[in-house]
Amino acid sequence: MIKPKKSLGQNFLIDQKIIDKITNAVEIKNRPILEIGPGTGNLTRSIIKKKPKKILVIEKDKKLVDFLYKNFGSDIEIIYEDVLKVNENKLEKDPLTVFGNLPYNISTEILCKWILNIDRNKFWFESLVLMFQKEVADRIISDFNSKNYGRLSILANWKLSMKKICDIMPSSFYPKPKILSSVLLIKPKLNFFPLKDPKNLEKLTRLFFMHRRKMLKKPYRNLFKGNIEVAEKLKINLNLRPQNLDFMTYYRLTEEYEKLRG
Ligand code: SAM
Repeated sequence: MIKPKKSLGQNFLIDQKIIDKITNAVEIKNRPILEIGPGTGNLTRSIIKKKPKKILVIEKDKKLVDFLYKNFGSDIEIIYEDVLKVNENKLEKDPLTVFGNLPYNISTEILCKWILNIDRNKFWFESLVLMFQKEVADRIISDFNSKNYGRLSILANWKLSMKKICDIMPSSFYPKPKILSSVLLIKPKLNFFPLKDPKNLEKLTRLFFMHRRKMLKKPYRNLFKGNIEVAEKLKINLNLRPQNLDFMTYYRLTEEYEKLRG
């Protein structure tokens, strides 16, 4: 019996109905699959039944890696590594379909890393079916003018399209987490807004969302040094709050900021 490690976010899925919902979200047959954090292989087993072309799994816990070798043998290819250190572009020639019941403490870090790693000319994944803490999932998929809208939604929406598959109750896991979870289906946008450096979008949204309840005037002045022309060109009312600007306005603002910096 494997004793779950809290430090590695080990909450294993034990609800077959939910496992089926997750594996039915995308086509698996004959596709190359990547699973992040397979744990004891509850999701892996269902993926194998759907006859993928191959399955790569990335697992950081040596005990689980040994367990997976014993139980799955040559059905899966195991990468014993921290997912944050893996270069996804080098894993497979064809775009991967990715599953991950992610450890909650690093789920946003993984997603942000992947967003930054999407290259316009080569998409390393075809789709992602990922589990997040519900509160994080709601921030990822929220639209402007809503309370969850912020840096994460703007960064994610830049290169990805997303939809919620389902919410999951704590009773579907062992051990039970204290929070609700959600599964998202995420696909890359083939034509995303061109920016020189994603760090500028991160910088701009960090500054703009530092004070959600305050007007846009101050962060705008900080970044554009009193240059009011950009706001006029993009028809931005600086008396609004950061959550009132839609996605495209943030991408265009970042583009203007990049132009000014040369
Ligand atoms: N997929 C399994 C399931 O649904 O039953 C396990 C999910 S559990 C929430 C998260 C898994 O990710 C664990 O197996 C844990 O050991 C693994 N993990 C945690 N941090 C990791 C990291 N940085 N890189 C790779 N795997 C990691």
